[in-house]
Amino acid sequence: MNDISNKVVLITGASSGIGAATARHLAGSGARLMLGARRGDRLEQLVSEIREAGGEADFRELDVTDIESMQAFVAAARESYGCIDVIINNAGVMPLSKLEALKLDEWNRMIDVNIRGVLHGIAAALPLMQSQGSGQVINLSSIGGHSVVPTAAVYSATKFAVMAISEGLRQEVGGNIRVSVISPGVTESELADTITDASAREAMKSFRAGAMPAEAIARAIAFAIAQPPDVDVSEIIVRPTASP
Ligand code: NDP
Repeated sequence: MNDISNKVVLITGASSGIGAATARHLAGSGARLMLGARRGDRLEQLVSEIREAGGEADFRELDVTDIESMQAFVAAARESYGCIDVIINNAGVMPLSKLEALKLDEWNRMIDVNIRGVLHGIAAALPLMQSQGSGQVINLSSIGGHSVVPTAAVYSATKFAVMAISEGLRQEVGGNIRVSVISPGVTESELADTITDASAREAMKSFRAGAMPAEAIARAIAFAIAQPPDVDVSEIIVRPTASP
């Protein structure tokens, strides 16, 4: 028995990268999972894999930019498991480009997924957690939530926003509900696939050469969940040694 066993954990953006690695890791520790993302075929495959390994998981197609979709996702978890212990607001996109490229659609998509998606996760889960008197919200920021580099102004702005939202939430509801931010450095995933700008894509190739496995972030998330109820891990920054 550990402090993850039997916990009901919801993961957004579980169809690849950090979300999928976290699902595998937490299922291996006995968590009961509800996985969400737009690509239901990927989630179905992951849920089968987890069940075959003896874990407990279910999935529901989810678009985090749509509050009704998020509410249905949280409701599905409650229906399946009776409560929710943790929501991991992990879904994110990173179409990097210089501001002067004026890729307004991509700016809006980052704002919609990376900020509104996190707010929607909070809006859907918080009332239930408050009525239960306990819960944990884990939000994915980034080292980009601490500093800005060229091409990453809007992405970083969304991750700074995640920091602000998480800190505000902690101050307001921290008595009963734990709030943790996980801020990864460069990690193996499909995140760079969302870059359409040719020069930003090229620059990212060398940056990503030193990426750490997504399992490293899964372990950090598991650490935050596994703490006893009177311990709230506010933030964990995880960087690959190869790419400081
Ligand atoms: P991936 O691209 O591998 O995963 C992103 C996930 O988000 C996918 O499962 C995708 O699923 C989901 N997603 C995107 N848009 C939506 C949407 N509208 N609704 C629901 N789900 C959506 O990248 P990572 O695993 O790297 O990203 C996970 C988080 O980690 C992100 O918040 C990212 O910003 C953060 N991060 C990643 C770093 C890295 O180097 N990899 C570094 C710092 C932070 P689908 O397309 O099926 O909907």
